[in-house]
Amino acid sequence: GRCVVAVDGPSGSGKSTVSRRLATSVGARYLDTGAMYRAITWAVLRSGVDLTDAEAVAKVAGEVDLRLGTDPAGYGVTADGVSVEAEIRGPEVTAAVSAVAAVPAVRALLVARQREMIANAGRIVVEGRDIGAVVAPDADLKVYLTASAAARATRRSAEDASDVAATAADLARRDRLDSTRKADPLAQAPDAVELDTTELGIDEVVARLRELLAD
Ligand code: C5P
Repeated sequence: GRCVVAVDGPSGSGKSTVSRRLATSVGARYLDTGAMYRAITWAVLRSGVDLTDAEAVAKVAGEVDLRLGTDPAGYGVTADGVSVEAEIRGPEVTAAVSAVAAVPAVRALLVARQREMIANAGRIVVEGRDIGAVVAPDADLKVYLTASAAARATRRSAEDASDVAATAADLARRDRLDSTRKADPLAQAPDAVELDTTELGIDEVVARLRELLAD
């Protein structure tokens, strides 16, 4: 039957790894909504429009042919037919994505796409910032993953081989940008189960989520 799991939390909270593993272990699809914001950001940067020009940014977002799958083993992100899987993890996109994600028309567009993909999936683990509160308020399970700032920076820099101090500064900057936007679309859903992953291994977090799902 239908089953939607919403996994929200800041970057470095472990949500990508945990969400993918959970989806694989329960035979569900997986949607990485951050990858969608990142791919739009890649297209905006390529277009050369001013990042602070919301109307121009929204226009690019509306015109780009964004595609990604929902297989937790690999979901191939393309923009206008170009594979952007490596580019969307690069420093240019990471530096610009919060600004692009703050444009209301971009959010409206992607939230609509995400709802459509969820409706077509049946069983799916959806990972992002606003999934439990906005995208899938009727999700069967809502989880909000947290971790200490230090743990998040260490994990992120291990992932992309970057400097821990620089990563910590960048995470703090993005947290601030992501949380001070108007009408805070990234607010934690009141009915989300909060899980602090600072002291937990990935397998422990996945096991805990499987327990919650079985309840
Ligand atoms: O999760 P990830 O680090 O890939 O997300 C990149 C950025 O995309 C976040 O910092 C946030 O600005 C934005 N985002 C969002 N809403 C989502 C997913 C990501 O605003 N559902």
